[in-house]
Amino acid sequence: MHIHEIRVLPDHLVNQIAAGEVIERPAAVVKELVENALDAGSSRIEVDIEQGGRKLIRVSDNGCGIGLEQLPVALQRHATSKISSMQDLERVASLGFRGEALPSIASVSRLSIRSRTQEAEHAWELELQPASPAEPDIKPAAGNAGTVISVRDLFFNVPARRKFLKTEKTELNHIDALMKRLSLARPQCAFCLRHNGRVLWDSPAGSAQQDEKRLRSLLGKGFADAALAIDLAAQASGLDLSGWVARPEFSRSQADMQYFYVNGRMVRDKLITHAVRQAYQDVLYHGRQPAYVLFLRLDPRMVDVNVHPAKTEVRFRETRLVHDFIFRGLHKALAEPVAGAASATEQAASVPAVNPSFRPSLSDQSRLPLQAHEAQAAYAFQQPPPEDAGPAAGNSSETAAASLPEETHAFPLGYAIAQLHGVYILAQNEQGLIVVDMHAAHERITYEQLKAQYNSHTITRQPLLLPQTLHVSEREARLVEEHAQAWQRMGLSLQRFSKDTIVIREIPALLGRTDAEQLVRDSLAEWLLFGTSRLVEQQVYQILSSVACHGSVRANRKLSIDEMNALLRSMEQTERSDQCNHGRPTWFQLSMQELDKMFLRGR
Ligand code: ADP
Ligand code: MG
Repeated sequence: MHIHEIRVLPDHLVNQIAAGEVIERPAAVVKELVENALDAGSSRIEVDIEQGGRKLIRVSDNGCGIGLEQLPVALQRHATSKISSMQDLERVASLGFRGEALPSIASVSRLSIRSRTQEAEHAWELELQPASPAEPDIKPAAGNAGTVISVRDLFFNVPARRKFLKTEKTELNHIDALMKRLSLARPQCAFCLRHNGRVLWDSPAGSAQQDEKRLRSLLGKGFADAALAIDLAAQASGLDLSGWVARPEFSRSQADMQYFYVNGRMVRDKLITHAVRQAYQDVLYHGRQPAYVLFLRLDPRMVDVNVHPAKTEVRFRETRLVHDFIFRGLHKALAEPVAGAASATEQAASVPAVNPSFRPSLSDQSRLPLQAHEAQAAYAFQQPPPEDAGPAAGNSSETAAASLPEETHAFPLGYAIAQLHGVYILAQNEQGLIVVDMHAAHERITYEQLKAQYNSHTITRQPLLLPQTLHVSEREARLVEEHAQAWQRMGLSLQRFSKDTIVIREIPALLGRTDAEQLVRDSLAEWLLFGTSRLVEQQVYQILSSVACHGSVRANRKLSIDEMNALLRSMEQTERSDQCNHGRPTWFQLSMQELDKMFLRGR
């Protein structure tokens, strides 16, 4: 290998390297330019795009403008008007502060700026040729107060980047989504987006109504309908959280509807994601993702924004404080009972076994109050027999009819008449037909019982016939050793056996016959997921929820009519049994009227 001379890179190349980090696609240019316009105090920002941004990106604003002498300076590397000292850097209130965007963009495109300050008699226009960046061409021009920055032929001199550009439509979608995200955080500013001369949307500044419109256009109606408005403030710490979170019945399979802004800057932050997830821990299905748009405001000195070139990450000085504020606030908000109908659109779509048109809205559940005192606990729910214990009466309609009591209205959830494909319990009550997802229902019951027992330190454990030895990672083995007490309280007697083996001795009695190994593996995984041991207390429910999942009747298990009835009675006595631990419904009612309607039968 040759030893080369060490050289200082020419400015232009340095800028292109910086551009590599920040300007990955047209939407990134739009982000930088619109953020500059916002920093300039604009109240209206218009964005013109041609060919998905490949040909032209133009951002026009009515902000403070840039004076003649300042124009060439704005294009120099590390030139910024936003900070001037270390103290400033420690309390950045603007979106920009690194002074890198304009020179970076200019190094990979043909850039021009037309700008006019309030005081100036006319505008000035600066045109930059990447070949001779040192001598920009500046001419007087016509134009209103404010700034227009045009970026043409993006990546014309970076073939590698150009190759990675997606179709015009895809790039435009990125720009569209980005602008909607930015606009959500700035209700007091009007935004307009045009593509190839056509207005895609034009959102005036300001009212609550506009706010809601922006919310809908970014996240859709499903979100807006399930949205819970948040407005929390902690006086002592000066933290303030506002925005919307979706109630658990609207969740996502991806983390694609999670928008978090810190002092108006959109960020992705593990701490925040974790705090929000925790707030949902009790009500959201494993692997389902909450949807939210949240704005956190705090003293800029409490957060370091200079962590990442694209400024999408932040570091909080008081992580614990911020985490707890978000977690506690949202947890409480989500626990409050919901009035009115819930939106179940997404679930309806994700349950292919149910024809959506046969699916009444979840609000039907609320017509039927489940009151513990109504249930006389006629049956004690027993663990269902294992699959190989022979068929039960579940699929025989004759047996079902025979054991059907005459007084069908005695219990809100009625009496079981059959089991459908090993998944649903069909029951008859006064109003008509009840369909229960037996696994979801049982899981909720087990979970609520575990929680109650956990809180009163009374989870009963049941020894395994043969203690089971398990190979695990060293980290997991350590977890078992160091937190034996905590595991014990959750009903699991675990013991470290060697460097990387553990022994399971007891599991919660509530669970009956359960695959203990899978149960412990999943619980360990759950625990590892949040890592830090100081959070264990807050995560217990999460682990209990995963424990409950294992102990619950699986699909395809035949239940006898008595067992099904016992499950229905337990549901009636269990709090929150309308939804499983993860926010999915556990049952719904199909009334006689609805059935009659389906069959066009007038009565
Ligand atoms: P930064 O935003 O980090 O300061 P930029 O390279 O994005 O760096 O911009 C450099 C400077 O140019 C800004 O600090 C600001 O003074 C000026 N500037 C850029 N865009 C605008 C605009 N739309 N209106 C007014 N001033 C602007
Ligand atoms: Mg900037």
